[in-house]
Amino acid sequence: MSQQEDGGQAAMDCAREVGFDLAGIAPLAPPRDAQRFQDWLNAGHNAGMAYLQRDRERILDPTGLLHHRKGSLLVVGLAHSRPGVTLPGGGRIARYAAGRDYHNVVLTMLRKLRRLLRERGILGSAAHSRTAVDAAPLLERSHAAQAGLGFPSKAANLLHPRFGPWFFLGEIALELELEPTTQPPAGSCGTCRACIDACPTAAILEPGKIDAGRCISYLTIEHRGPIEAALRPQIGEWLFGCDVCSEVCPWGTAAPDLSQRFGELAPARTPLTDWLEPPDSPAWSILLRGSPLRRAGRESLARNAAIVLGNRQNPDDRAVLLRALSFDPSPVVREAAAWALGR
Ligand code: SF4
Ligand code: SF4
Repeated sequence: MSQQEDGGQAAMDCAREVGFDLAGIAPLAPPRDAQRFQDWLNAGHNAGMAYLQRDRERILDPTGLLHHRKGSLLVVGLAHSRPGVTLPGGGRIARYAAGRDYHNVVLTMLRKLRRLLRERGILGSAAHSRTAVDAAPLLERSHAAQAGLGFPSKAANLLHPRFGPWFFLGEIALELELEPTTQPPAGSCGTCRACIDACPTAAILEPGKIDAGRCISYLTIEHRGPIEAALRPQIGEWLFGCDVCSEVCPWGTAAPDLSQRFGELAPARTPLTDWLEPPDSPAWSILLRGSPLRRAGRESLARNAAIVLGNRQNPDDRAVLLRALSFDPSPVVREAAAWALGR
């Protein structure tokens, strides 16, 4: 075994030692899906995610992550499979959002991993490294597929035979030449198209291509301002995120229940109507503390709650919608409440 292979295997062993389920090595180089990404951006399918346009060059050339622009990417996966989450009285949040914010969890583990790599002498004390979870300018899934963590799916995520689509990704760029692990786990979508058929908003335009502007995950988490009226009924029960394409995926049905790993925070136990509390309510800080739902923010969450209540059409919810319509300081929330009352 060469020194590079040795180092790569030792680095992946360290990743498993700190608790990651999956680990692989990819070259620190432009992602294999660079052209697909460019085409997707050029078609405007990134919707309001302007930062992807802004960071385009950095995403296409991740060598800028390191001072000397040379090295490897250690890509890791942490599974988060758990049963679906329905709020008391109705409304749903994406499974990953029921517990602690994965950014914090994965980042803490990545830092621990980096310390271990140094302690074991795999990463020299002078060698530069950068950790990344989600927010860094990286085409994560493309690098992860190249590192052999899973195979790309028609729903534009990565699938693993044991965990299906239910795992988070993290990366450490290392100023270290390691042998890439090129062998992905066996599997493919084959002739299945369950996710394409089940998507409530027809956001999967073709295998592997999502129109973010139609995707409920984007609309309920990233999108600011009013949501296009034509898409609101299809949002159905989703207050935050959407798991439909993952839930119908046959690769994920046998994934283990790992609820304990991230625990369950207040958002998973909060009734839908409470999400229309006014912004000065002390409930918000408790509700969003340490939770991934913070990313959407109060206004978008209240907007989403009004839309879900409108979709549920339960007369008992009129009072809370009328209060939001009359008193909420956000025009976005008032408009969504008016729409819901109209239904
Ligand atoms: S997350 Fe939901 S809306 Fe987005 S592509 Fe998947 S099923 Fe469609
Ligand atoms: S539902 Fe079917 S087509 Fe969609 S990602 Fe899963 S296996 Fe692939």
